[in-house]
Amino acid sequence: MIIDEKHLKYDGAKGVPHSRHGGQPPKTGDWRTFKPRIDKSKCIRCMTCVTYCPEAAIAVGSDTYPYVNYYICKGCLVCVKGCPVKAISVSQDLHAEHLRRPKHD
Ligand code: SF4
Ligand code: SF4
Repeated sequence: MIIDEKHLKYDGAKGVPHSRHGGQPPKTGDWRTFKPRIDKSKCIRCMTCVTYCPEAAIAVGSDTYPYVNYYICKGCLVCVKGCPVKAISVSQDLHAEHLRRPKHD
């Protein structure tokens, strides 16, 4: 058996398994090749990025600005495209797991 159903946690949309271990989402940030960075000095807090992110990786902080949860951000950069004031920049993420793996022939 690949999935032990006894340990599935059902969070978010009803009936959709979110995680096997205590509600913590699986770490998908290591898949990332590019990393979005939000510049608060440019951000107008429109929250477009929050609604656009397909991974729900952008949340609103106690300072009312959005922040990226890099534990689950996959670097798809949809948020960058959606930001109306170009407050999200992109950098290469050299910590991405696939960049650390040895190359195969
Ligand atoms: S890069 Fe993709 S996954 Fe990461 S915060 Fe932006 S929209 Fe979400
Ligand atoms: S889309 Fe851009 S301006 Fe709007 S909240 Fe996100 S970072 Fe800020």
